[in-house]
Amino acid sequence: MNVRPNLYIISSVAGGGKSTIIAALLKEFPDFYFSVSCTTREPRPGDVEGKTYYFLSTEEFRKRIAEGQFYEWAEVHGNYYGTPKGPIIEAIRDHRVALLDLDVQGAKSVKDLRPESVTIFIEPPSREIWIERLIRRGTDSQTSIERRIENGIRELDEAPNFDYVVVNDQLEDAIRDVKSILFGTKK
Ligand code: 5GP
Repeated sequence: MNVRPNLYIISSVAGGGKSTIIAALLKEFPDFYFSVSCTTREPRPGDVEGKTYYFLSTEEFRKRIAEGQFYEWAEVHGNYYGTPKGPIIEAIRDHRVALLDLDVQGAKSVKDLRPESVTIFIEPPSREIWIERLIRRGTDSQTSIERRIENGIRELDEAPNFDYVVVNDQLEDAIRDVKSILFGTKK
């Protein structure tokens, strides 16, 4: 029997366009489940508690790690990020199409836990365009941008370990490519 995978992990570098792509998919397919992560980073303008993230103190996050409340967690750009365990297990059990927005470490952890999951790396068309987009986004401080560029250069090296790499040159094309992966029509 050919069972369609229902767990899709989307990773990218900061400013790679991943959040925009996920938002477009959720708008078009409201039945998809999006795993809302916990984080210790400061909320940015536009962030909504419980919708983009659950914002926790470092103390609370560490307590939840100790209690085994995360499906996976990682330290990214100097903050903790983690996938709450209960809701994702429930979504998998209910055979919902689940989207996870994770860094490359989280993608690897979930792929190890569930090898049938599908990993997608959203790649900027070039390093120059990516850095320009990251700066233009205007959501990060100078130090934070520098850290995200430094980490991003390492993350780009991980792209070949993903099941699919989608180049985000034109947003509409990238969304179409991710959809074709989700609906099993991408070669
Ligand atoms: P941002 O702070 O820009 O929203 O996210 C920073 C990075 O953390 C992104 O690469 C994002 O995919 C990743 N991230 C968000 N939530 C999680 C999570 O629950 N686990 C892991 N491992 N990474 C996450």
